[in-house]
Amino acid sequence: MDLNTVTEVHLARDRADLRALGESVAAVAGGSALYGEPQHHLTALVDLTTMGWPALTRTDDGLEIAATCTLAELSQIPAQPGWAAHHAFFDCCTALYGSFKVWNVATVGGNLCAALPAGPMTSLTAALDGEALVWRADGSDERMPVAAFITGNKTTALNPGDVLRSITLPEDSLLSRVAYRKIALSPLGRSGAVLLGRLAPGGAFVLTVTGGTVRPIQLRYETRPPAATLRSDVLAISEWFTDAHGAADWRRAVSALLAEEIREELS
Ligand SMILES: Cc1cc2nc3c(=O)[nH]c(=O)nc-3n(C[C@H](O)[C@H](O)[C@H](O)COP(=O)(O)OP(=O)(O)OC[C@H]3O[C@@H](n4cnc5c(N)ncnc54)[C@H](O)[C@@H]3O)c2cc1C
Repeated sequence: MDLNTVTEVHLARDRADLRALGESVAAVAGGSALYGEPQHHLTALVDLTTMGWPALTRTDDGLEIAATCTLAELSQIPAQPGWAAHHAFFDCCTALYGSFKVWNVATVGGNLCAALPAGPMTSLTAALDGEALVWRADGSDERMPVAAFITGNKTTALNPGDVLRSITLPEDSLLSRVAYRKIALSPLGRSGAVLLGRLAPGGAFVLTVTGGTVRPIQLRYETRPPAATLRSDVLAISEWFTDAHGAADWRRAVSALLAEEIREELS
């Protein structure tokens, strides 16, 4: 939709250009969430896609994903030797309730910053223990787990003027076996629950629950837990929510079932 109060769009070329951001000036990446609803408080936008950040950077420690990397780019990332988690990139992109047209503009950072519970990039990067790099408005840098970056339904650790620069996935996560489950009320509907299990090379098991909870919830075990333990831990989560895409009690119940499927798959 038209954002009628927005009268200027600045193309950001370097970090100094981000100083324009604030209460009434928002960052825009793909725009697929920003243009989806009225933004009467905004007078200007700062386009991050002109910053020229490389979408995907392989490092010795893992993979850095620029906030401006599109879902299309991420979905096509080539597999690397040993990356047992590789399939999760494509799996999670398919959990976005949007066609290839949306994939081509929607960014990983925009998905995290929009912070919808059904944000599939939140599911992916939290499950792989991603670390978010935040450029604070005062010029400082801050790193935090993605699971802490998302603080609630449409809320994040960002303050006005801050920018999410990148997400780094550690090598150990990329080498992990990963099992993915998504459920929605209709075949093409927005996710009601998205769960990923991760079995690290050292044997640690992490279940990440998203979609059905207002923020990512992670259950961690030194080894693959018994079925009864995992089930009771999932059922004990308190942050289920109800909206048009599912009732809280349904989300809780199906998540317990999906968690067990994941546990079995990672046996
Ligand atoms: C048909 C359709 C289906 C969709 N389905 C889903 C879905 O299933 N799940 C879902 O989660 N979303 C969905 N969306 C919403 C949206 O497409 C995604 O959330 C997308 O990933 C947002 O990315 P973007 O780059 O377009 O973000 P934008 O729209 O550009 O930005 C989103 C928000 O994040 C801020 N922002 C963006 N990048 C940064 C940054 N690097 N630092 C700081 N702030 C930033 C913006 O100011 C804005 O508030 C859908 C949208 C459409 C049109």
